[in-house]
Amino acid sequence: MILLASHNAAKAAELKRLTGLEVVTPDYPEPVEDGLSFKENALIKARAGAKATGLVTLADDSGLTVEALNGMPGILSARWSGTHGDDEANNKLLLAQLTDLPREAAFVCCVALVTPDGEEYVEECRWPGTIATEPRGENGFGYDPIFVPHDGNGKTSAELTAEEKDRLSHRGQAMRKIATRLAQISQ
Ligand code: IMP
Repeated sequence: MILLASHNAAKAAELKRLTGLEVVTPDYPEPVEDGLSFKENALIKARAGAKATGLVTLADDSGLTVEALNGMPGILSARWSGTHGDDEANNKLLLAQLTDLPREAAFVCCVALVTPDGEEYVEECRWPGTIATEPRGENGFGYDPIFVPHDGNGKTSAELTAEEKDRLSHRGQAMRKIATRLAQISQ
């Protein structure tokens, strides 16, 4: 049994889709994400899951990095507008901030896999693109309506199907990289 440690339902759905494994999301207090990098935060979440449940635990920390903002929102992506998880407010604020700035950006996903006996594996992947001038599309979550990946034929990631996003995205890439370890551990 593998624990998928995510308290973000939309992200958990993507992770489940990507792993194809049986995963459980049990109830335990969400750890404080006080790391200063995606890697530190992914490890905090995976270690907390492994400690609370005794299960092999997979967790991701991810976000949007904008070149003109020195890599921010970065680890503050989920709460850029001040309220955790308010996607619409986050997108609105970012669009206002970028009015006169270059729009190069990338989604980053760091996946951590932690076993109860302390083995740790981490993979980090980027999905480069630009920030649109207004939101488009209904799929996905977070910044998807305003992120135009370079390899997405001009669509925002909210206009891609789930299959298209999984094939290209930061999370899809990172999960495929860690899949070998996961398969070894879950045998
Ligand atoms: P986390 O749950 O602390 O890793 O926060 C991740 C945040 O980054 C999300 O709440 C979104 O705002 C943003 N984010 C990460 N991955 C994606 C994605 O695939 N699409 C859209 N937004 C994303």
